[in-house]
Amino acid sequence: MLIPARMSEAEEHRWVTVMLDKLAAQESKRMLGDVELGERAERLSDQYFGGRARPTSVRWVTNQNTRWGSCTPSEGSIRLSHRLQGMPEYVVDYVLVHELAHLLVPGHGPDFWRLLEAYPRTERARGYLEGVVAAERLPHLPAARGE
Ligand SMILES: [Zn+2]
Repeated sequence: MLIPARMSEAEEHRWVTVMLDKLAAQESKRMLGDVELGERAERLSDQYFGGRARPTSVRWVTNQNTRWGSCTPSEGSIRLSHRLQGMPEYVVDYVLVHELAHLLVPGHGPDFWRLLEAYPRTERARGYLEGVVAAERLPHLPAARGE
């Protein structure tokens, strides 16, 4: 934490308390996010799959850095990478729809992609995610020489 200079000890203590309260509020917001995520998955399933995909749990995870989402069909659980937080809603929805579809069809065969055609922004969301991955692989630009 960066503490502003010239703070008395009492001020500093109060400031740290305020910051910790803010962090706790953010944390509880993230927890609420899991509930909202579950509700959202339910709505998407109703909208695109006639409610046939019924996950038992949908939650954010922070230990998933190479995949945007994953699911365990035998348990009916869906996990979304926290890296999606802050991305456009249609991208998060796409990953949810993708994982919901896996509850109905395993693998990425023609049947799977036919299901995903129901979601109108599949191509756009895939393009967005590919762009994110590509941007992460870009080398840092060399500093300008200024000749
Ligand atoms: Zn998949």
